[in-house]
Amino acid sequence: MRLLKRAIISVVLLDNFLTNLLKKLFFPSHWKLAGQCRQCGVCCQEILLKMTERQISSKFFTNLAIRWISWLFDFVLLRVDYEYNYLVFTCQHRCNEGRCGNYFWRPSICRNYPLVDYFEEPKLLPGCGFYAVKRAG
Ligand code: SF4
Ligand code: SF4
Repeated sequence: MRLLKRAIISVVLLDNFLTNLLKKLFFPSHWKLAGQCRQCGVCCQEILLKMTERQISSKFFTNLAIRWISWLFDFVLLRVDYEYNYLVFTCQHRCNEGRCGNYFWRPSICRNYPLVDYFEEPKLLPGCGFYAVKRAG
């Protein structure tokens, strides 16, 4: 089971790497990140995964998504936010002092944080060691 999980994660990570590379090469964002991670662990306390209105209104799909994400990433569901359509998880790999206990195999959602959008200034959690800088030009 562990091997299967890692094989699936490897495919997802490769896809994530190539997508990010293409974005950087051909569609660079107006924003970039500076600073560095302070390993405070705040971004691992609550992990928000966006659902569409249609997805979250289906009990079957929502349960399937929760089971799949929980199994694949070792996340634990905290709640379903029906107001803003999010699945809110925490993670079994959170360690003391904010360190990740699964750093090598951490999922793409963790690798992509803080998320840099194309136009909008990245939204950072209070106390995060990163900050957003607007690109020149
Ligand atoms: S909130 Fe920022 S500084 Fe803290 S662990 Fe996450 S990325 Fe690192
Ligand atoms: S896998 Fe690591 S980085 Fe990702 S949420 Fe869990 S503890 Fe945080």
